[in-house]
Amino acid sequence: MLHREFNTGRRFAGRFDHAEDLLGSLTAFADKHNINMAVFSAIGAVVSATLGYYDQKKKEYVSYREPHPLEIISCTGNISLKEGTPFVHAHAVLSDGKGRTTGGHLFSETPVFAGEFYVQELTGSPFSRIHDETTGLMLWSNET
Ligand code: ZN
Repeated sequence: MLHREFNTGRRFAGRFDHAEDLLGSLTAFADKHNINMAVFSAIGAVVSATLGYYDQKKKEYVSYREPHPLEIISCTGNISLKEGTPFVHAHAVLSDGKGRTTGGHLFSETPVFAGEFYVQELTGSPFSRIHDETTGLMLWSNET
C-alpha cells in the first residue's frame, strides 16, 4: 500500500457560482491558491451531471449524462498533481425528486445550481499521478 504522511494546511470553505462547472471550478480554485494536495467535500444541487464508471476490462471510462436537476447528496474527492498541475478527482452521489440516487466518477459538464464546498489542504510532498500499467489508470505514485 502506497502511503505518505501529510500535515494539515489551509482550510477553505465557499460556495459555487450558479451554473459554473463543479469540477472546473474546483480545478481553477486549486490553481489560484496553489493547492497541490487536498481533500474536499461538497453538497448542494446540480442542473445536470456527467458521471462515469471505469470499465476494468476495457480499461476506459464510460460516461453517462444525467440531463436534469439533482441534489448533491455527497461529493467527495481529492486534489493532487497530474503532469505538474493540480488535478481534481471527485465522486458524487446525486438524488432526484423521489430520492432515487445515482452516482459515480464525476466529469466536467456538471453545472452547479447552488453548492457549498470545503477544502482541506494537505502539506508535505504531494502525490503525482502516473500511468499505472495494471489498471490503466493515472494513480498516485512515489515517482515525481
Ligand atoms: Zn474516480
